Amino acid sequence: EPVPSAEMDGFCRIFGVETEYGVSVTGASKPVDAGQVAMIMFQPVVSRSRSTNTYLDNGSRLYLDVGSHPEYATAEARDPREALAQDLAGEQVMRNLALKAQRKLRETHGERAMIHVFKNNVDSAGHAFGCHENYLVRRFVPLETIEHQLLPFLITRQLFTGAGRMTPDGFQITQRADFLDEAVSSATTRSRPMVNTRDEPHADPDSFRRLHVIIGDSNRSQWATWMKLAVTHLVLCVIEDAFRNEVPSGFEDYAFADPAAANRAVSRFPDNSHAELALESGESVTALDLQRRYYAAVEAFITNHDDALVGSLPVTGIKTVMGEWHRALDALDHGEYDALADRVDWAAKKRLFDALRNRRPDVTFAQLEQLELDYHDIANGRLYGSLTSRNQLRELLTSNDVAIAVHNPPTDTRAALRGQFVRAALAAGAQFSADWTHLTVAAPERREAVLLDPFESEPTEEFTQLMGVLPNGSDEPVQV
Ligand code: ATP
Ligand code: MG
Ligand code: MG
Repeated sequence: EPVPSAEMDGFCRIFGVETEYGVSVTGASKPVDAGQVAMIMFQPVVSRSRSTNTYLDNGSRLYLDVGSHPEYATAEARDPREALAQDLAGEQVMRNLALKAQRKLRETHGERAMIHVFKNNVDSAGHAFGCHENYLVRRFVPLETIEHQLLPFLITRQLFTGAGRMTPDGFQITQRADFLDEAVSSATTRSRPMVNTRDEPHADPDSFRRLHVIIGDSNRSQWATWMKLAVTHLVLCVIEDAFRNEVPSGFEDYAFADPAAANRAVSRFPDNSHAELALESGESVTALDLQRRYYAAVEAFITNHDDALVGSLPVTGIKTVMGEWHRALDALDHGEYDALADRVDWAAKKRLFDALRNRRPDVTFAQLEQLELDYHDIANGRLYGSLTSRNQLRELLTSNDVAIAVHNPPTDTRAALRGQFVRAALAAGAQFSADWTHLTVAAPERREAVLLDPFESEPTEEFTQLMGVLPNGSDEPVQV
């Protein structure tokens, strides 16, 4: 039985974003593959932690599984804006690792060797990789319900969160629709491709689950990262409240008859912006219609639950989110895609591609692909920076906000404790390990603290004792 608590009764949430990056090298004087480069990038991590899997002093997890897709998983945040800051801190960490590795690589592979780290979801060999959103949700909502009621939202949400991609067959607003086919089509049967099947709540399993959304694109637009978390939060609030009070959510009949087909059709917006998508109920709707319906339901819900909802996000204003959502849907409706080019990744790309084609009608697919890759390259790319510096792409946070987030966890979740522990353990040169719910010192004496409650940022007795066995070191942040 779940223990009654403010967290159970209210609408507060924990957000986390996992981002996998693609790695490649150009200009090297002799062959070197992406796997080797990723290993060079992780040498400082290995020498610090004796492992390619570590936690940083901002409470995040940095790791490299076999292969060449380094991953950064943000610390637990209570607000989408904080999660955004933590995700951008991840970009900064990856950039530092890449530039350090590049200096190293140039000693053996020539001065022109360049390491590229792509925050995208498809590599040149056609392999797809992920960006996972994590949402804490109350256990009383069955996973099947979340899937059934949320998948149509997630598929159509891509109208303003898709990262876009130039394919040989034309432009798409998402990176992975063609890769997720199998995955999305089986969403209504046993397998759970839009969410991970593993039940790992990283919290009290009687009270909470961790919804693990895998169908989203990685975003370079700060607005898009922030919005996708904020709007999904609001939709989840409606679903949770319906279960809590045993009332309809209004989303019962929105399931697509063929989610994979719907996903592919949405990805081909704006060419087929009026495409009718079949629902299981027999009705047909456009992607935009469905987003309007989710919007209307959330708006009505806010009217009735204003106070409770406002308190659910410590920083982000719910009215601001609704305003942005509404404006985005209107712009899409009116075909004013350029008006979204300063916040929606696919629209930013489309504007660039259209401009280039106008100037140079003979531009090749390979050249457009190159331009696109540059947009995603967080290590050596120039396009993103030139867009933001000319105010053609909006930024929500300053570079100073990001620099702070590189060494500072959110202060209002257990990540604050993890960050404090990692910093002290590194400064003391102690042998330690961590995961989302455990902090361990291995020597001279094994001690552990369990942090089961992700909302708790105050030290427990156990935590204080654990900190007590670490000798005092310097208080300077230790670089990865
Ligand atoms: P793997 O990538 O190894 O398969 P995973 O995808 O399950 O594992 P991690 O990469 O470790 O998970 O990332 C977990 C993410 O979940 C982090 O961003 C973290 O902040 C977030 N998180 C941790 N606890 C919770 C929670 N209780 N509810 C929601 N999100 C959480
Ligand atoms: Mg992960
Ligand atoms: Mg994951």
